[in-house]
Amino acid sequence: MALISDRLSRFKPSLTVKISQIAREMSLSGERVISLSSGEPDFDTPVHIKQSAIEAINNGFTKYTQVDGIPELKKSIIEKFRKENGIKYELDQITVGVGGKHVIYNLMMSTLNKNDEVIIPAPYWVSYPDMVNLAGGKPVIIETKMEDSFKITPKKLEASISERTKWFILNSPGNPTGAIYEKDELKAISEVLVKNPHVHILSDDIYEHIIYKKTFYNLLNVEPRLYEKTFIVNGVSKAFSMTGWRIGYGAGNKELIKAISKIQSQSTTNPCSISQVAAKFALQSEKEFLKSWLVKFENRKDILVKFFSSIDGLEPFIPSGAFYLYVCCEGFIKKNAQNGKKISNDLDFAEYLLNDAKVAVVPGEAFGKSPFFRISYATSSEDLEEACKKIRISLKKLK
Ligand code: PMP
Repeated sequence: MALISDRLSRFKPSLTVKISQIAREMSLSGERVISLSSGEPDFDTPVHIKQSAIEAINNGFTKYTQVDGIPELKKSIIEKFRKENGIKYELDQITVGVGGKHVIYNLMMSTLNKNDEVIIPAPYWVSYPDMVNLAGGKPVIIETKMEDSFKITPKKLEASISERTKWFILNSPGNPTGAIYEKDELKAISEVLVKNPHVHILSDDIYEHIIYKKTFYNLLNVEPRLYEKTFIVNGVSKAFSMTGWRIGYGAGNKELIKAISKIQSQSTTNPCSISQVAAKFALQSEKEFLKSWLVKFENRKDILVKFFSSIDGLEPFIPSGAFYLYVCCEGFIKKNAQNGKKISNDLDFAEYLLNDAKVAVVPGEAFGKSPFFRISYATSSEDLEEACKKIRISLKKLK
């Protein structure tokens, strides 16, 4: 009898985590590797938030808590939704998990039966299809095009809905492209969803605050009739640079929240008590620091867009949010093939950059859309500039 369960063969380990790990191993063996592969801001968690956690420890807030979050944190989440998004929730419509990832995992585990379908526009965040697979569901991937700014059209959405569709995942600003859905685009999508009441919507708003000169809208801002059908996921990882604290939250109908709590009660019990206090404090306090972070992110984005636009055969997609640049390398690969060189896909491209330039990027294959690669600019401007120089030298060698 095999020790490892069949479940494990249903999904792949995260390719982004794998690349970060290879880069880390190279660094440990003494090589200088610049990692542009990970999805976390390089800024420290703001001091006032850290202080609230220290106080929680000193006050002995170090025991088990309610399974799906302390009421004080839930109240600050409700207040966040009211103030920032104009959406009303009650305490029993909120769940807190160990990061947004965990909340989505719980959601899939508590709703998917065998072969239930989940519509996922590609390129997508690496974990969506695998979490669906793990929960026994079936990912239905819809391709989007760079010409359409990587956004799903209502027509395509409608064509991919079947009787078995349970969820449609909408992630704006999106990972890996940074594309943002405008109000009218959300409205057009919502018309399809209103016509198909058996489809539920997972709105992943984790990059809500990392946005450049645009306004963030949730589907519910344009179509309140989808309220009962929509589950919003958000968290403190990106906006507050709290990736390691592992707090994410979800809001949706009571039945779902109860189901998620049942799963959580037999897995993590509750999210870390201290992190919950810090997340409550983060959500309640002013986000002044975010302004300077956004200036930095935007500046780095501009450096990278300029750099990649200057390389023959590479075409960056200009992001409106998040901290990633998705670059098309189709032209480069084609030219390379003509010259008899052996970079034939984005995996080869990323591998070459890692080995030759010692710069880690993630191939588009990880996000279901090739031939592209993703660069995370949640890295210092100095490192980014050094990485650009190294990439230029390495790519020149292929000419
Ligand atoms: N959704 C998206 C689109 C993400 O990129 C991430 C993090 N990479 C998450 C959710 C989860 O973030 P966390 O678990 O840190 O809250």
